[in-house]
Amino acid sequence: MTSPHTHHMRQALQLARYALDHNETPVACIFVHEPSDTVIAYGMNDTNKAHTGIAHAEFMGIAQIQRQFGAENVVRVFSETVLYVTVEPCVMCASALKQLGIRRVYFGCGNERFGGNGTVLSINSDKSTVSPNDNATYLSIPGLYRREAIMLLRYFYVRENDHAPNPRTKKDRRLDRETFPPIDWSMYISRQTFGREFGVENLRLYDTNADVPSARVPVDSTPSSAPGDIDWELIAGPCDDILELLDAERKGAQINLSHKKPKTVVASD
Ligand SMILES: [Zn+2]
Repeated sequence: MTSPHTHHMRQALQLARYALDHNETPVACIFVHEPSDTVIAYGMNDTNKAHTGIAHAEFMGIAQIQRQFGAENVVRVFSETVLYVTVEPCVMCASALKQLGIRRVYFGCGNERFGGNGTVLSINSDKSTVSPNDNATYLSIPGLYRREAIMLLRYFYVRENDHAPNPRTKKDRRLDRETFPPIDWSMYISRQTFGREFGVENLRLYDTNADVPSARVPVDSTPSSAPGDIDWELIAGPCDDILELLDAERKGAQINLSHKKPKTVVASD
């Protein structure tokens, strides 16, 4: 299966791998100006270095957009911007994204404890807290490279436990590369939205809570990988040049903001 979103989620995963290699939680995101398909910002977790639990990837990206386009233009920029993030935004970030009027979100795996796009709360589609900027709810699509996003987190937790003063049992230290929890698509999107995003021919995946097959198999190659296989190469790292690549793209970004009033985007779920 190919997807126009594949490229940007791969960039986000490479950035998450970079974060992992720099002793941060491997969570990262890419902000893309959709009409021009240009990366305008990126972010990765900075909670360890910044010594604050709120230095989440999304906020780093928001700060870049504010600097680049001016705080007064952020809402206009966001109305044309799509976010790719390796892990579902937490309730705090989900709310900030809504306040700023993000157009749409794609994420890899769910955030079991703090997820704000369907796992714990559905801030994105909750109409009771629509932002004062008159932007409405946003659609958030899960499941892009979900297993890769999970594996990066597992790499991190296994390593953390190895460094802990009282390492847990041997079983906890073992890196699980085989088993993945099912994805309950209905927590996040409707069947109809799934069909639109991933193709109606794949609706059986929605019905069986299965992962979408490798979004990474190029359309002209022989799809040798079974559904749900993992692109190990993508997350193996190191990805030392990713910052340079992303900076070059975002600093050269010249986007024409439409002069129309930002369109109100209503999540269909
Ligand atoms: Zn967050």
